[in-house]
Amino acid sequence: MRPFGTPRRQIGLDDEPADIAAWMLELVDESPDRLAIVTIPPHRDDDDLDAMESRFISAYDIAKAERPNLSVKLLHALDLHNGQPRDRIAVAVHEHKWVAGQCVNGCPDTRKEG
Ligand SMILES: [Zn+2]
Repeated sequence: MRPFGTPRRQIGLDDEPADIAAWMLELVDESPDRLAIVTIPPHRDDDDLDAMESRFISAYDIAKAERPNLSVKLLHALDLHNGQPRDRIAVAVHEHKWVAGQCVNGCPDTRKEG
């Protein structure tokens, strides 16, 4: 399995969920394997992180309403900053396309055929 891409874009603390949703879908659409990696910007404290998380969840709900096959996974990303490893949080957003229970958009997930 190939690595899950590299973090390359960020969402902002002040972005509206609807804007985040539109941007998320844009990223997914421009990726050949329908996979976008979104990194969570640096945050001051847990309150910041909580606020960001709830915005992101609202954004995902909006995006998912448009694309029922959307999935999201939290990734634990490791960054190098001044040569030191630093924890970052990244989110993988991916749109499945199911053919006979397999996703043909390049991810290893499978689905039971109803
Ligand atoms: Zn998939």
